[in-house]
Parts: sequence; structure tokens; C-alpha cells
Amino acid sequence: MNHEELAREIAGCRACTAHLPHGVRPVASFSPTARLLIIGQAPGSKVHETGIPWDDKSGDRLRDWTGLSKVQMYDAACVALVPMGFCYPGKASGGDKPPRPECAPQWHPRVLDVLPDERLTLLVGTYAQAHYLPGTRKMPMTERVRAFREFLPRFFPLPHPAWRSAIWMKQNPWFEAEVLPVLRDEITRILET
Ligand code: SF4
Repeated sequence: MNHEELAREIAGCRACTAHLPHGVRPVASFSPTARLLIIGQAPGSKVHETGIPWDDKSGDRLRDWTGLSKVQMYDAACVALVPMGFCYPGKASGGDKPPRPECAPQWHPRVLDVLPDERLTLLVGTYAQAHYLPGTRKMPMTERVRAFREFLPRFFPLPHPAWRSAIWMKQNPWFEAEVLPVLRDEITRILET
């Protein structure tokens, strides 16, 4: 199966319809040449409306952190955008519900099979980090991000760039001073490979 057939299969997924109050709309993009993989949480309400991944304030902040332009981020030949849950899970008290737990186990292995073996994966937020760095589950997210060098060159853990991350950045100035320059260098390295 090629990646376009897989994308069509994902678009037709109805595995957790009963748990999606706003309906099914899987949002993910990938291709066999995308060496940068960004694994986020799940689409929010705006992304659910537009169908465009990271088309919101969190996306603006992530572009600022990574140095990626919108053109670069949405070039599926270079960048794969694959959240832990492909459909908007709806609201909970204090934010959105977590990504549906069925989604990543069902789809990620097949999507990752399509991608080049040599790639850099940004693990954006704790859901992606718990799934892909299971040995670090007991670490607070801040400590995991601070230890980012331990996970290179394959993985790069980041906070989720939601509005709360602005406060978190003020409390953790090392992130902007020490982590973001390396993040941008690693992205440049993998995109120029
Ligand atoms: S969240 Fe994932 S598993 Fe659930 S319907 Fe959407 S694509 Fe399918």
C-alpha cells in the first residue's frame, strides 16, 4: 500500500466515532520523503474546522520555536504532521480532552513505516512523549525537555505550545536560550540530509 492509499484509509476511519462529539475528521499529513516528523496531541476546534494541522495559535508558536515557515511546515515532502489522535476529541474542563487512545496504536506503526528511516521526530507534549519515550514516564515534562540531548538524534521532546507554554517559558528561560537553538540546528540538519 502506498502512502496515498493509507491516507485514504485513515480518512475513512470510524474506529472511535462514538467518542467524538464533533464527528470524525482525521487530520494528518505524511509522505515517504518526510524526514521531519512532528507528533502533536490532537486537533483543536479550529483545526477541526479547517482540516489544516497546526492552523492555530499553538501552530504559530511551534513555527516560532522551530524556525519553520508555514510553507516549510506544510510541505508534506519534507515534514510529516501526525498527532497522537487524528480527530478533535472535544472539550473537557480546563481544555480539550486527551487524544483518543485507539488512534496512535492503530495508525502510527503504518504511518511510520511509510517515512524514511533516517528522520527526526519532534515529540510535542506529554502524550507523544509517554508513547515514544516510555522509559521517561515518571520524569516531569520539564525535566524531559531539559534532558533533550539524551534522546537525539532520533527524538526531540518539546512542551505543547498551548497558551500555557508562554508562562512555562518565562519560568524556564533555559528553554529559549539553550534548547531552541539546538532544535533549529537539528531541523536544518535533517531537512538538508
Ligand atoms: S481519532 Fe483516530 S481512531 Fe478515532 S476515528 Fe479518528 S482517525 Fe479513527
